[in-house]
Amino acid sequence: MTAFIGLTGGIASGKSTVAARFRELGVTVVDADALAREVVAKGTDGLAEIVKAFGADVLDADGALDRKKLGAIVFDDDDARRTLERITHPRIAALSMQRMAAVAASGAPYGLYEAALLVEKGTHRTMNGLVVVAVSPEVQLARVMSRDGLDEASARARLAAQMPLEDKLAAATWTIWNDADLATLRARVDEVHRAILASLATSV
Ligand code: ATP
Repeated sequence: MTAFIGLTGGIASGKSTVAARFRELGVTVVDADALAREVVAKGTDGLAEIVKAFGADVLDADGALDRKKLGAIVFDDDDARRTLERITHPRIAALSMQRMAAVAASGAPYGLYEAALLVEKGTHRTMNGLVVVAVSPEVQLARVMSRDGLDEASARARLAAQMPLEDKLAAATWTIWNDADLATLRARVDEVHRAILASLATSV
């Protein structure tokens, strides 16, 4: 049976980079962010529902969703946020079930589900294991500053809003530390891939 394993980590910890290496190893990674974009893409009934609820002002000149405009509407309005979630959440859930069913049908030993807020939402408890990508606070600060072009105070504020790393580590089945260079990261992903396969082989 195909196992489903979560992949998570804090902001700029290296989740996408790790996911890319797992894909190179032949593992299907279902990306929650990508699904969230897909269910409101141009031409979807999800986008039609959003326009019905919030008006055509949330569209850009091309008729695609202007995520900034929608974000500004739901930012400090709980009712609006709940309305949006009632539209998107069931669609994201359905699409992720569909993607995971495809992984299971392929006979792969396991598939990964990458999401930033897995532990926060408790989703990892519904899965067969959890990979956490971790970085030490100084490295994380430096990567957030350089990737997002933020000054130190803004980067620190963004990090302070996150769930503490210890809480994610406590939920981890496998941890990938990403303080070193990219070659080290790749090697560690390969190691964890082998460890996952070995654990599945012994659990059947
Ligand atoms: P987020 O969820 O915040 O979008 P993420 O967890 O998916 O981020 P990545 O996008 O993979 O993280 O990496 C964050 C940034 O750090 C990227 O600019 C990436 O190129 C860089 N990075 C990741 N790992 C390393 C590394 N080992 N050495 C140097 N740079 C790295």
